[in-house]
Amino acid sequence: MASLPDRSYTTQPQGTNAPLGGWQTFFATGPRPAPSDGFPEPTHRIPLNVCGAMTGKKKSAQASLEAMYRVFTVPEAPESTLSRIDQDISRNLAGFLQEHIVAIERDLSEVEKDFSDYVIPEKPVFVSEQTQFLLDKLVANSVHTASPAFIGHMTSALPYFMLPLSKIMIALNQNLVKTETSKAFTPMERQVLGQIHRLVYQEDGSFYRKWMHDPRHALGAMCSGGTVANLTALWVARNRAFPAEGSFRGLHEEGLFRALKYYGHEGAAIVVSKRGHYSLRKAADVLGLGRDALVPVETDEFNRIQTDALRDKCLELQKQKIKIMAICGVAGTTETGNVDPLDAMADIAREFGAHFHVDAAWGGPTLFSRTHRHLLRGIEKADSVTFDAHKQLYVPMGAGLVVFKDPSLASAVEHHAQYIIRKGSRDLGSTTLEGSRPGMAMLIHSGLKILAREGYEILIDQGIDKAKTFANMIDEQPDFELVTRPELNILTYRYCPEDVRQALAMADELQAEKMNTCLNRITKFIQKTQRERGKAFVSRTRLEPARYYHFPCIVFRVVLANPLTTPDILEDILREQRELSKEDGIADEMAILHQMAAAVLKQNQKEARQA
Ligand SMILES: *Cc1c(COP(=O)(O)O)cnc(C)c1O
Repeated sequence: MASLPDRSYTTQPQGTNAPLGGWQTFFATGPRPAPSDGFPEPTHRIPLNVCGAMTGKKKSAQASLEAMYRVFTVPEAPESTLSRIDQDISRNLAGFLQEHIVAIERDLSEVEKDFSDYVIPEKPVFVSEQTQFLLDKLVANSVHTASPAFIGHMTSALPYFMLPLSKIMIALNQNLVKTETSKAFTPMERQVLGQIHRLVYQEDGSFYRKWMHDPRHALGAMCSGGTVANLTALWVARNRAFPAEGSFRGLHEEGLFRALKYYGHEGAAIVVSKRGHYSLRKAADVLGLGRDALVPVETDEFNRIQTDALRDKCLELQKQKIKIMAICGVAGTTETGNVDPLDAMADIAREFGAHFHVDAAWGGPTLFSRTHRHLLRGIEKADSVTFDAHKQLYVPMGAGLVVFKDPSLASAVEHHAQYIIRKGSRDLGSTTLEGSRPGMAMLIHSGLKILAREGYEILIDQGIDKAKTFANMIDEQPDFELVTRPELNILTYRYCPEDVRQALAMADELQAEKMNTCLNRITKFIQKTQRERGKAFVSRTRLEPARYYHFPCIVFRVVLANPLTTPDILEDILREQRELSKEDGIADEMAILHQMAAAVLKQNQKEARQA
């Protein structure tokens, strides 16, 4: 085998392909490459699943210094599994996903069997062998998030160009924690933060010329997602709420316990509507306040915070000597896509001297739309705003950011080290929670430039329009019930037979509770079965509609972010759900539900006659 001709790995590490001089000299004393080992596969090799069958002998990869050289320098052969996949994906991504992801759901406990080895392999394998494994076991059992019928979650399709551009990002492998490992990526990230800052706060040119690249300030912080963005914002809020004063060196030095003692508070709170994202509770926990410190406020029938209830809650906290550290508005609630009255909330935050944070992880990009941006009125009064780029900026997973109204705000969490992020450097690492970070700003920058405001406006507008179309479609079906009408591009609904809808409209609390309990089981069955069949996916959540006496109702949740989702697809989804409601698996439940509805309707007719 050692003398087989035409190998892909003939490139010597010392050859012209070698990227840099330094490590070469270092390794120059190593053994000459033995042609038969190394991880990239020989070009002539047939696909691995049949490999060995023809020769009767399976060639194996070997670990050696030469093999290590090779994995860092030699590309895969053009006919290798990896190269084929690479070409397939570049040529026809949708086709590739369609072909390789199996539609029918496989039980997770089955999938776990493919990942049950707990010993790190001792011996290496060829890249192509691993690639084939990934294709068979991982890709096949992944979720087709890019499918236009996958409308259950906030994770959806990406624009095509993100794929090759992300290769550039990985090839460069820059680290944004410091300019020494990122150079041009740092100014680019600062520009992206500046552009989102401007989208939110609309400051003038001189503001951005002054602050965007100022080494002592940052207009925001880039991070891995909305969770860390919210945590970063509340970290800033916490440190600002208990600053250094007199003998007290500030919470960031002395901790929460001493801060409360010094300032004479009994505790600290973050106030948000009860539709606030669960990441805020995590933040309260991580920041040392405890989860109880996240104080939920009642919402109105449109899932928006009740401002009267908010003020009452703040007064109550004040009376209990609890410091109101932050008030959080939500621009696009995760479950229902509603927007809090941000303008009024900003005024309340000012009244109580609280940091005003807006979680616009989902709804932020609505600002691109001239038609809908008014929904976020007041966002410009926020001290900090969270944006999730991997949601409606259509950037791959792992990109979120927070922007600060005041360029000096981030200094509340500033930290320095001697070997990096030195004082006065432009290093963005000095105000981020995370340390080493990838150059995701490059993909946000690319989206903002390639799609531009006009492109994002179209995406936002069509998503909201489509949600309205779908809501109307649901309204027209006698056996479906729209539960929350879309304000942005998220809505909730459920399957509810016509007689049950009539009965629910006149049911008392106990009757409604019984029917809703039944409906909950039916909704869950339909949602699960539809997901398992693999043609379409909506998610499910639990809401407490006022019209059903705030009883927890399970509902289908739909997020319309994929521009390729058509009204036909939406109609098909309703049709399949209606058919699923007739399946044996839920027949008993359905029979009981109809009986209950009949009883309610009969009782009502009797009462009407008597009246
Ligand atoms: C998605 C989301 C988050 C969390 O973002 P991750 O990127 O999942 O960490 C926070 N808040 C809201 C409103 C969200 O929609």
